[in-house]
Amino acid sequence: MADMPFTAETPSFEPDNSARPTPMMEQYIEIKATNPDSLLFYRMGDFYELFFDDAVAASRALGITLTKRGKHLGDDIPMCGVPVHAADDYLQKLIMRGFRVAVCEQVEDPAEARKRGSKSVVKRDVVRLVTPGTLTEEKLLDPSEANYLMTLGRVKGAAQGQFALAWIDISTGTFRVSETDPSRLLADILHVDPRELIVADPVFHDPELRPTFDIIGRSVSPQPPSLFDSATAENRIQRYFDVATLDGFGQFSRAELSAISGAIAYVEKTQISERPPLMRPERESEGSTLFIDPATRANLEMLRTLSGNRDGSLLKSIDRTVTGGGARLLAERLTSPLTNPVAIAERLDSVSCFLAGQSLADLTREALKGVPDMPRALSRLAVGRGGPRDLGALARGLEAAAQIAGFLGKEILPAELCAVRDCLAGLPNDYAAHLDRALDDELPLLKRDGGFVRPGYHAELDEMRALRDHSRRIIAGLQADYMNLTGIRSLKIKHNNVLGYFIEVTANNASVMTDTDEAKGKFIHRQTIANAMRFTTTELAELETKIANAAERALAIELGIFETLVAETVANADTIRAGAAALATLDVSAALAALAEEQGYCRPLVDDSLAFEIVAGRHPVVEQSLRRQAANPFVANDCNLSPEGTAKGAIWLLTGPNMGGKSTFLRQNALIAILAQMGSFVPAGSAHIGIVDRLFSRVGASDDLARGRSTFMVEMVETAAILNQATDHSLVILDEIGRGTATFDGLSIAWAAVEYLHEKNQCRAIFATHFHEMTSLSEKLTRLSNVTMRVKEWDGDVVFLHEVAKGAADRSYGVQVARLAGLPEAVVNRARDVLHQLEAGETSGKADKLIDDLPLFSVEVKREVKTPAKGKDSALLAALSTVNPDEMTPREALDALYRLKGLATNPTS
Ligand code: ATP
Repeated sequence: MADMPFTAETPSFEPDNSARPTPMMEQYIEIKATNPDSLLFYRMGDFYELFFDDAVAASRALGITLTKRGKHLGDDIPMCGVPVHAADDYLQKLIMRGFRVAVCEQVEDPAEARKRGSKSVVKRDVVRLVTPGTLTEEKLLDPSEANYLMTLGRVKGAAQGQFALAWIDISTGTFRVSETDPSRLLADILHVDPRELIVADPVFHDPELRPTFDIIGRSVSPQPPSLFDSATAENRIQRYFDVATLDGFGQFSRAELSAISGAIAYVEKTQISERPPLMRPERESEGSTLFIDPATRANLEMLRTLSGNRDGSLLKSIDRTVTGGGARLLAERLTSPLTNPVAIAERLDSVSCFLAGQSLADLTREALKGVPDMPRALSRLAVGRGGPRDLGALARGLEAAAQIAGFLGKEILPAELCAVRDCLAGLPNDYAAHLDRALDDELPLLKRDGGFVRPGYHAELDEMRALRDHSRRIIAGLQADYMNLTGIRSLKIKHNNVLGYFIEVTANNASVMTDTDEAKGKFIHRQTIANAMRFTTTELAELETKIANAAERALAIELGIFETLVAETVANADTIRAGAAALATLDVSAALAALAEEQGYCRPLVDDSLAFEIVAGRHPVVEQSLRRQAANPFVANDCNLSPEGTAKGAIWLLTGPNMGGKSTFLRQNALIAILAQMGSFVPAGSAHIGIVDRLFSRVGASDDLARGRSTFMVEMVETAAILNQATDHSLVILDEIGRGTATFDGLSIAWAAVEYLHEKNQCRAIFATHFHEMTSLSEKLTRLSNVTMRVKEWDGDVVFLHEVAKGAADRSYGVQVARLAGLPEAVVNRARDVLHQLEAGETSGKADKLIDDLPLFSVEVKREVKTPAKGKDSALLAALSTVNPDEMTPREALDALYRLKGLATNPTS
């Protein structure tokens, strides 16, 4: 489509005298009516133009000028436009701002339209809907992030029906599906983190599911239910994959089929005539990955921090990959840690292998650095949006793959890397060699520019190029001849798209061309412009035709070669994709080895037990950030929640001062479990982890006022989810439950929650609290131990040691921390006083006594040490402050002493 010539059309938006819309306007209105929820990019020449409300919205979103063109029903038509060559940049901005865009192209040669009459409009049609989940352009995608489109399928049946999610990344072809249910729907959606979620209209409006969609926000798009029709689902899937039966795809439930077919239907709807090559849908079964609920995912700042930044997230601090594919695989592994110890050990073996063989690791990472994003280049080519550089990317990727297969062939490798090597060794050599032969070293971005086929590859192409180039040289010769003939030194032969080749002389010299004997009759006038006149000659016109013919023929040959190479690429799509996946696996393993080496991580032992024994564990993000700031080094801490004997896992009740490091300790243990189960080494001296099936955390306070939930309500909702869902194989991290309400309510809730975790959930857990009363629970609950963050008190201040030790904290040191934070001295002093009274039980829980002490500052006056001196004291102190014993003679010292004594007895003296 992009290669269609775009000459200007006669019809326009300019009104004729009648009130009827122009034919072009009629065409626009008709196309816009079928795409009401998208901005319409209407192709006119070298621009995509937007009209009416679209123009207003786009000009605002893009910061471009809003103009007007013609009139409709008597009113001006607002218009704005973006140049076609820069359309990707504008599309990116619009997509990021939540718009969808329908791209409408000219689908016939304007010459064809002219044959129908001078007023005919060139046929146009929407060739693609650009939506966040269906992007393929390099500029619109983040190389390190997958770009998922997700669909939710529901089949009415049992109480609430059956649910399934399918997700596709059309930029790489990945296609997965899994069952879900309303209780875990949000968690399952967030686990994939799709850019766009497609649901059928009735599902979207189901009040039970609305809260989930509200949280997901504007990336949810309701669509007609026909997309999800489970009765026709199988048919649609068979048609897309061109198979007669789905037997070879595995068993899918009706809900899964509906979700898969919904995804395919949406791809068809947005890609119109293109069919991106998708992999067959792969089933992700429940329980094969560590379930992490949405709150935990956010609290642990796995992919982004709570404030939405990628810097400071776990992913950012462990990512040492060198390719886009590797970065995406790392993110996928991080968000879906495994629950099968054998599969985890296989991944860890690969990391160990690279750690043990440093030169192999260096060689691999060096070779991987040159690997381009093959799956994305492949997808672009397959949907007709690729260019010569995408073919070049595949050629370079395959070359690197062959090189890597070569040196891996010499090594003894663990299972996962053996599979990688075999896959790389099995890549199609003929195809790679063909690309190499056909493609030149330097490649243009667009195929229509030509010049990407290597000289020597195609005889006729070489001939046409020679003819074209030779003629160009002859033209250069002609310029010299004409210069001599006319004696005009500034005569030039130039080229533009309107005139083609022409001879240009300045206006002063024009008479030489028309009047002199030598020139007369030879130079044919073409154009007069300000300060210059343009001519042609028969010779020049003939040469021009030759050049144009040769160039046109050369380009046609190149485009033919391009199509052949694309067809060959698509035929090899599956193997190329498998090769790219193998390279990504290699990148992730080598990157995790590099991380382990650089940060001193150890290989965890992961098995089916209920063990959780971390020796000298560290927080992967805080540790690196302290190091970057050259602050005090991170203090490593042990954590042992392993069962004793055959009993269930243990609970640690963690008390300690504010700022002592409790939250850091809680999080670090959760993160170590995630890292271990994703197949990474972990920041610890040693780690033994029995598979965690579900990970829950309630850390930090946040509110959700938009949904009418206070901080305390959010806390309770999250706590409820934990107590209802944690199993004896789960790991639970709870920070300060019950803090957002009255002391006794909070304490009671926290108390009951711990009892429930111990007796009912029986999971491994760490529970941090400032309710020191709870430490007495250890007398009753056999698997509960008290631990505390150690501090030293020095001269009234606290020093945080960040060490976890057996035992209970006697206090929270909140007042000291408040002082460090810069609370006014008066408030700190008053707080200390209140604290003393409360601790001494003087108020017996009543506020009356404290109220008697008001006003606040009366307490201050009573304090002797900290309050400023008054009267004679202040005079005495002032005099004393002027005395400097080191600089005094004995005589001066004696005088000073008498003076001070005088002031003490008689301040006015
Ligand atoms: P609060 O009860 O006030 O929420 P907390 O006990 O949860 O505090 P954290 O927020 O975990 O304390 O840690 C406070 C600060 O101490 C952090 O900013 C971190 O930089 C530092 N810190 C925590 N743990 C360690 C450690 N093990 N080694 C070094 N520094 C640490």
